[in-house]
Amino acid sequence: MIRIEGLTKRFGGTAVLNAIDLEIAKGERVVVIGPSGTGKSTLLRCINFLDRPDAGRITVGDISVDATRASRADILALRRATAFVFQNYGLFAHRTAQENIMEALITVQKRPRAEAEAQARRILKEIGLADKADSYPASLSGGQQQRVGIGRAMAIGAQLMLFDEPTSALDPEWVGEVLDLMRSVAAQGQTMLIVTHEMRFAREIADRVIFMEGGRIVEQGPPAQIFDAPQDPRLQRFLARVS
Ligand code: ATP
Ligand code: MG
Repeated sequence: MIRIEGLTKRFGGTAVLNAIDLEIAKGERVVVIGPSGTGKSTLLRCINFLDRPDAGRITVGDISVDATRASRADILALRRATAFVFQNYGLFAHRTAQENIMEALITVQKRPRAEAEAQARRILKEIGLADKADSYPASLSGGQQQRVGIGRAMAIGAQLMLFDEPTSALDPEWVGEVLDLMRSVAAQGQTMLIVTHEMRFAREIADRVIFMEGGRIVEQGPPAQIFDAPQDPRLQRFLARVS
């Protein structure tokens, strides 16, 4: 169970997240949609403490962190429990695919090198890149790089995976393979919080869709309700624009 309470973030004087409350059940797949600049990335980044929240509490399983009092140890514990998949892959350019996957296992999880290596090899096979273990990111396609990005998140065995527009930097030809990998991660029962502009994918993969605007959750519900019977005029306008 993941619980977010009163999550608030300001940049300068402006509140970008306004006391967000959100509960996510184990194995649930939640998709966040909404206009640009509305706080979707900030929400994900605050959950992982990539941005430090100004207020609120984040609970992931046994770990419960009050943002105003979070220690280094709290933040590390949260990062072990939540894995982030970035829009721009976030790979180390001077490390091979395998080393990129090993990195988090060694630094975040303090696993012995041999064990991390074996785990990385298993993951590479699972993401269909066993033959690219020794390739550097620059020699991989965008789709392959993002599969490594997802593989790295899989390797950590996190309770929650956070995806921030994982396909929006990709050439259209690579989008399918990344969505396929996300489908297979979902099929394993992984709890996922996904920001995406791929509305068809959102409808297919989500148990629940959240529409955000102005740093607030405006409307949420199962995909059929959000896409076919939106209630709030802001959501209606948004859907008219994107579809
Ligand atoms: P998009 O769909 O374009 O990715 P988003 O919903 O992810 O948008 P955020 O990136 O969370 O939006 O940004 C929300 C607001 O916070 C925006 O107005 C943005 O300019 C502002 N913001 C985000 N990060 C920072 C920062 N580091 N410093 C100052 N302002 C920021
Ligand atoms: Mg964003």
